[in-house]
Amino acid sequence: MATGIKANVKTYDLFIDGKWQPSAKGKTYEVIDPSTEEVIAHVPDATAEDVDRAAKAARQAFESGSWASMTAQGRGRILFRLAEKIRSEMPKLAELESRNGGKPIVEAEFDINDVATCFEYYGGLATKIQGHVNPVPDNALSLSLREPVGVAGQIIPWNYPLLMAAWKLAPALAAGCTCVLKPAEQTPLTALEIANWFEEVDLPPGVVNIVTGFGESAGAPIVNHPEINKIAFTGSASVGKIILRAAAENIKRVTLELGGKSPNIFFADADFENAIDGALFGVFINQGEVCSAGSRILVEKKIYSKFVDAMVEKAKRIKLGPPLDRDTKMGPLVSKEQYDRVLQYQEIGKKEAKVGAGGGRAKAFGKGYYVEPTIFYDVDNSARIAREEIFGPVAAVIPFDSEADALRIANDSPYGLAAAVWSRDIFKTMRMVKALRAGIVWVNHMQPTYVEAPWGGYKQSGFGRELGPWGLEEYLETKQVHINLNEQPIGWY
Ligand code: NDP
Repeated sequence: MATGIKANVKTYDLFIDGKWQPSAKGKTYEVIDPSTEEVIAHVPDATAEDVDRAAKAARQAFESGSWASMTAQGRGRILFRLAEKIRSEMPKLAELESRNGGKPIVEAEFDINDVATCFEYYGGLATKIQGHVNPVPDNALSLSLREPVGVAGQIIPWNYPLLMAAWKLAPALAAGCTCVLKPAEQTPLTALEIANWFEEVDLPPGVVNIVTGFGESAGAPIVNHPEINKIAFTGSASVGKIILRAAAENIKRVTLELGGKSPNIFFADADFENAIDGALFGVFINQGEVCSAGSRILVEKKIYSKFVDAMVEKAKRIKLGPPLDRDTKMGPLVSKEQYDRVLQYQEIGKKEAKVGAGGGRAKAFGKGYYVEPTIFYDVDNSARIAREEIFGPVAAVIPFDSEADALRIANDSPYGLAAAVWSRDIFKTMRMVKALRAGIVWVNHMQPTYVEAPWGGYKQSGFGRELGPWGLEEYLETKQVHINLNEQPIGWY
């Protein structure tokens, strides 16, 4: 079990081979509550030696057959049990997620329920992995078998900590893979907490190993480790590029879920009230720390002024507050580093566009990384605040003339994770849906995500898909089996 050193400040170990173990060098680092700036936990600062132990434990669990050779039903049942446990402990996990990352408690509760749903979904999918009979033109039986990729190294960000862990662990486990997971340095706590229940739900030792620490010292060794067959990464495009280069060394399979600068597009014929809510929700949910945030808000000129005024007016009423307060709609940003980064972008924005709302830190709070919901308008799509991912509550509102103009601006981005179109004209909407270069297009909504449907990016938003059967595919190999049914010699020599 993880151990506490003093009330409310827990010290965790690494979870390797089914046991809590300190890091080889014995170093830990502090985990901060971003609303109070106080230390809430100490976790190991793992290095390559720890990753090596974790990778070997995962390899051993894979090779021993304790997981991959368990029946699919058996694996599925363990995932169901884990889901049930997570659901029953939802309030506790949600509170920890909220304290650790600054996420409003109501949103954290949604996330933890989605975590449980994700394990349930893949528990069900474990028994749906099926091979194929190939119609070869010979007297032979040709089969395609589906097999687990092996050991998966999984590196995740801080914005949806346990949900990102679930998106990676659940399909990998359903496929029969074993895992080495590295949570983000800022938000490792909920992933560590669920490891307390692995034994209780009968997950064999070594199947899931959790290594906490920093990107270069704990993440990079995962990418470089020869016993790890696949890397599943969610994070920034800049780190994604480093990972892709490193993975080339030993030809690891890689899936990358990277950032975005997603257009949320409003035509004049959209329902106005819904549109305003959709624009704000699209960019300010989770303090804007969302990969698919609708951070470029494209508005047709016919309604532009009225739209900006209404957005600004409503944004000023968004309730900022402590994450555990049920009325809070926006908590603090996750860390001092992210807070400084967002404040810098606010300054850049002031030079590039007009300020409608916000534009600085939220002054009502003495402590904590609180930032005002910020709306810049009359933004040109070439501005830095329209091109670079800010990953905070900063919206860039951009006017457009026509459908063609909207499409040109929307697709003019290095990213292609998500887009949304708001209109009541089905023909125009469907033309936009087809032409937008993004992994998801919402119509008259923005942000709902379901475990049953694929998630992933176009362009520099990455490649590979998570969730649904697509997510499972990424953890499966295909083996061809050819069974000769002729009893005669081959007859070639
Ligand atoms: P980072 O890319 O900085 O970090 C992501 C993870 O990678 C962290 O665990 C980090 O460790 C680790 N890491 C950092 N450097 C290396 C390295 N050299 N080798 C291996 N691992 C490394 O992203 P953030 O955590 O800041 O998350 C925000 C980003 O994630 C945004 O760009 C966002 O768009 C993206 N994201 C994408 C999603 C999607 O589905 N497409 C979903 C959620 C977020 P450490 O924390 O210690 O730095």
